[in-house]
Amino acid sequence: MSDKTGLLDWYFKPSLLLRILAGLALGGAAGAILSYSLPQDRLNEVIRWIAPFGDIFIRLLKMIVVPVILFSLIVGTASINPARLGRVGLKIMAYYLFTSALAVAIGLAFAYVAKPGLGLNLAGAAGAAAKPAERPSLLDTFLNIVPTNPFDALARGDVLAVICFACVFGVALSYLQSGGDAKIKANAELVFRFFEGAAEIMYKIVAGVLEYAPIGVFALICTVIAKEGTRVIGPLGLTALTVYLALLAQLFVVYFIFLALFKFNFLRFLKGAQEAIVTAFVTRSSNGTLPVTMRVAEENLGVSRSISAFTLPLGATVNMNGTAIYLGVCATFVANAIGMPLTFAQMIAVVATATLAAIGTAGVPGSGALMLLMVFDSVGLKMEAGSAVAAGYAMIFGIDAVLDMGRTSMNVTGDIVGTVIVAKTENEIDLSKWTIGKDG
Ligand code: ASP
Repeated sequence: MSDKTGLLDWYFKPSLLLRILAGLALGGAAGAILSYSLPQDRLNEVIRWIAPFGDIFIRLLKMIVVPVILFSLIVGTASINPARLGRVGLKIMAYYLFTSALAVAIGLAFAYVAKPGLGLNLAGAAGAAAKPAERPSLLDTFLNIVPTNPFDALARGDVLAVICFACVFGVALSYLQSGGDAKIKANAELVFRFFEGAAEIMYKIVAGVLEYAPIGVFALICTVIAKEGTRVIGPLGLTALTVYLALLAQLFVVYFIFLALFKFNFLRFLKGAQEAIVTAFVTRSSNGTLPVTMRVAEENLGVSRSISAFTLPLGATVNMNGTAIYLGVCATFVANAIGMPLTFAQMIAVVATATLAAIGTAGVPGSGALMLLMVFDSVGLKMEAGSAVAAGYAMIFGIDAVLDMGRTSMNVTGDIVGTVIVAKTENEIDLSKWTIGKDG
């Protein structure tokens, strides 16, 4: 897009990242100014005008999520032999599980030191109304991976079911491509080329949508800060701070070490992954960010599509390292707030349940907050209407958007780290993209 000249030069000339960061900074500043300078009803009015510019960005991303997964995954699985697909699957699941459990432990450790919520004494508090939320059962989550009707799964945007169908389709396609019958083989190759072309078209659309990202980012951030900015200050500030410090530790310590173990340069990683990290931050949705995540993994970090088309959609659905951290910190917050700090045995229970809960978390805004209920349950924190636990939950729920931004960016970062590692062990990464100084 750099050869554009004319009226919009000022917009298209600077690098995309610079524009997105400018959108982020200006949006944050505008949101803070609005929330301090306007009375509530005027503020709501202004937000109503600004919010659609952010919503359209999210809608554009969502528009391409399902086709991106379907087309890329069919092409990906059809170009890799089934035995190898199984091996890649095992490796990436082992990585996702391990890092999720580690992330909960990090969240708990940070919360243990910072002690958010201690002294709040909610035990005597009158009932704050927290929404009783539905808890999806784990068995159902597993069963639903196999769609009874793939078209229905596509229409509903049920990511795991779409992954399942695309894998089955891709594997069958790869068998036919290498089969004996010349006619069937020719047909299969035609189908393969069709999906390959369709996947390319999707990536082209992603690049176009990203050109709009700075404006979308401005509107999204401005809306969140204008609505929630002031609430983060106060007793919840420490919780938010703890969550964010633990998220940063995950990024700068855990991911740094993982990448270093596989001889990847951390700064180069950040440079390559930054568009996805920022998009996750503002959209608060791993699924919504997926088209961007896949693009940066392939184009900036050199991961071959046969790996990324499989590991990234899977990661966007099951790997939630940031959410795992959040669950650890917030379980501690509520336990402290009601004057019953977690015991060591309870912390172990939190690690186990929060790891599963993070896997069951859908990659959409706010879903991690529902999973918190499952974690409460495992340590005997009863969420009844009017109870102290409900009051604590309602407090956290109030700043969920702010926490969701940070946790979603770490969710996505974790997926990309796992993907480049698995790609390296499979020799499916173009390491020339990792040369320092080379532009993403
Ligand atoms: N919003 C997060 C994501 O999409 C999930 C969560 O709410 O924790 O990754």
